[in-house]
Amino acid sequence: MHLIVYKGIRVSTSDSTTNILTMDSNIKSVGILTSGGDAPGMNAAIRAATRAGISNGMRVYGIYRGYRGLVSDEIEEFQTNSVSNIIQQGGTILKTARSEDFTTVEGRKKAYENIKKHNIDALVVIGGDGSLTGAGIFANEFNIPVVGLPGTIDNDLNGTDTTIGYDTALNTIMQSMDRLRDTATSHERLFFVEVMGRNCGFLALNSAIASGAEAAIIPEISIEKDQLAELIEQGFRKSKNSSMVLVTESEITGGAIQLAERVKKEYPWYDVRVTILGHLQRGGSPTAQDRILASRMGIAAIQALLENQRNVMIGIRENEIVYVPFKRAIKKEREISDEMLEVLRISSI
Ligand code: ATP
Repeated sequence: MHLIVYKGIRVSTSDSTTNILTMDSNIKSVGILTSGGDAPGMNAAIRAATRAGISNGMRVYGIYRGYRGLVSDEIEEFQTNSVSNIIQQGGTILKTARSEDFTTVEGRKKAYENIKKHNIDALVVIGGDGSLTGAGIFANEFNIPVVGLPGTIDNDLNGTDTTIGYDTALNTIMQSMDRLRDTATSHERLFFVEVMGRNCGFLALNSAIASGAEAAIIPEISIEKDQLAELIEQGFRKSKNSSMVLVTESEITGGAIQLAERVKKEYPWYDVRVTILGHLQRGGSPTAQDRILASRMGIAAIQALLENQRNVMIGIRENEIVYVPFKRAIKKEREISDEMLEVLRISSI
């Protein structure tokens, strides 16, 4: 299903145009939470969903520390000014946490009781695949409408071109790479730079292209072949006076430290260094693209609830908002495009 949101209230679907203010919905109150790893732009999503809810006559509740706060009742009613002055802030004002309790039926029962206590009719969950998996289980178990927003720097969810926080993280990595290139060139070194992504190489591949790196070692390719040996066999930039290789933090790639140790042992003529960007990638003020994406998605989440949608993640495809069933969103099948691999290969010769 495709729809476009205008000024937060006009909606154009492929077959009709509707004003959501006139929509008949049983949902009078909504709880919003952020869960899993924080991602820049989560605040913009909280802000947009809060204001869309209030502007549609709903009571809006902020739930602190993700599912943990749902289980332990850290819930507070929000007004429009509860989300003032946050669009530019990284992280999440609602805090985030991981909750073991919520993975158990007893924990989820407590969460449900708290929802009932506050008369919350529906939830907006902002997080990655784990958070959306939990959201789907909870929604089915207790028959609660839940809409998800893809909040993760990894860009590893299906059915959406991009996720909230990915663009900011990509820019952060690119800026770090520019700095590292200065020192790599001065000392004529080979740098392995490790970035996040778990089993998904989007961050490594795209930041390699954006920063002019020589290669990206990513899980999708490493699982099939020894990328490092291939790079070395190809002569590995003998004509260049520095080399930068992006590596996805993952058991499949082995990570930057392991790759560097292999090079030291097998190819001792290289002067190798490792940088692990770690949590630096999560912080910082969101880019304009992430703020706009998160604002659109936050409003679309309320829109979806008013349309009586449930168990869907808001996605974006070809610049249009789409609804993606949770089951599809969390399927591990996102593919790296051959074209992007070619762009890196050709542009780095
Ligand atoms: P990121 O991609 O940034 O790591 P994430 O949402 O994937 O974010 P997770 O730690 O995997 O982060 O999941 C967040 C929380 O979602 C968990 O702490 C847990 O409470 C809940 N969750 C994850 N999987 C399940 C599950 N199978 N059943 C119930 N709850 C779950």
